Amino acid sequence: MEEFDYLIIGAGCSGLSLVYEMNKCKLLENKTCAIIDFKEKFSRDKIWSFWKVFSHSFDDCILGEWKKLQIISKDNKVILDCNSTPYQSIDSGKYYEKILKDIKKNPNIFLYLDEKVIDCVEENGSVNTVCKNKTFKSKVVFNSLSQNLIRKEPILYQHFLGCELQFENEIIEETPILMDFNCSQSENVHFFYCLPIKKKCLFVETTWISKDKEFSEDRYKLEIENYIKENFGLNTNYTLLNKEIGSIPLFHFKPKIKNKNIIPIGSAANLTRLSTGYTFLNIQKSSTHLVTKLLNKKKLDNWKISKKYIFFDKIFLKVLIERKGNMAPIFLRLFKKNNSKIIIRFLSNVSSWLDDLRIILSMPKWIFLKNIF
Ligand SMILES: Cc1cc2nc3c(=O)[nH]c(=O)nc-3n(C[C@H](O)[C@H](O)[C@H](O)COP(=O)(O)OP(=O)(O)OC[C@H]3O[C@@H](n4cnc5c(N)ncnc54)[C@H](O)[C@@H]3O)c2cc1C
Repeated sequence: MEEFDYLIIGAGCSGLSLVYEMNKCKLLENKTCAIIDFKEKFSRDKIWSFWKVFSHSFDDCILGEWKKLQIISKDNKVILDCNSTPYQSIDSGKYYEKILKDIKKNPNIFLYLDEKVIDCVEENGSVNTVCKNKTFKSKVVFNSLSQNLIRKEPILYQHFLGCELQFENEIIEETPILMDFNCSQSENVHFFYCLPIKKKCLFVETTWISKDKEFSEDRYKLEIENYIKENFGLNTNYTLLNKEIGSIPLFHFKPKIKNKNIIPIGSAANLTRLSTGYTFLNIQKSSTHLVTKLLNKKKLDNWKISKKYIFFDKIFLKVLIERKGNMAPIFLRLFKKNNSKIIIRFLSNVSSWLDDLRIILSMPKWIFLKNIF
């Protein structure tokens, strides 16, 4: 059995962000830390986007940054001005590379790939993490897996396929499209998301919010092909550079058994905004929070999304479940009736009560009131 001071389960966004901050704050000069993941290698698997409402450590991993976004429906278009809080996209490939390069310099940090975690058991104040090939013992475990947690809300996923496409000719559109509802709305909430990465390179994502965790890849692919034909012309030539496929659970978790030495991190620590799926900046907040606790030798608890957002988001999701394919007018109304800065603060969990009130007053009253009760 190998023994470490700290163990991090999952070398994904939250696991790597935490070890990076721990290393940066010199917490691992005299202490050891192991990170375990079941993947065999790192690949560029995601693009993490958000409004930069506070500074973070990963400006050098940016794929793009924009000052304006569009929200489109069949008969409407709204521009969201993000001048003071740009919309940033992080390239996961660069993020992994930066952190791996950084932690490689510290001999107290150990990375184990191709190790599937099977169980974590507390024993006499330490934790045994049982993996496929070996068992790790540590005083504290930071766990980004949600497999042994209980769901708190009804099942709902934001699921998607995003394709980075290299076009033969320059694309005219320079402003990203946050939501394009000009597509089938019959079954569930459905929109396209487009990021113009370079003059000839576009990231296009087909997104659904539904009880399904995923659709078939062929179905998503066909949707993207049709979207390109409809918006860029039948004879547009392009090649696929990269793709990201996945789903974000729009529900929170609670542990089966509370264990003070096993600290959830990432999505498993309920860091996802239920109404939007945004998690990346909350993960950064949570990492610095945990590092401060460790530095001050304080009890390890988690940074939490404020309860007011959880309350608002739950009502919003109830409305969404009720309205299914008829949500586009509500999204458009939100973006049309409010000042851009207020919307961004609200969606990024940094709004004031006055901002919240303005958002609430801009929404259709009856359907939201009905769903509170
Ligand atoms: C495709 C995609 C795009 C997203 N885009 C955005 C975005 O634009 N903006 C935003 O804010 N949020 C986004 N999110 C949501 C969120 O930011 C990400 O899911 C983020 O990666 C969550 O970090 P995490 O550490 O919780 O999980 P992950 O990054 O998924 O890390 C978990 C790690 O655990 C490993 N693992 C799983 N099971 C085991 C096991 N049994 N044993 C060992 N290792 C295991 C996995 O290989 C993985 O590396 C996106 C999510 C997805 C899926």
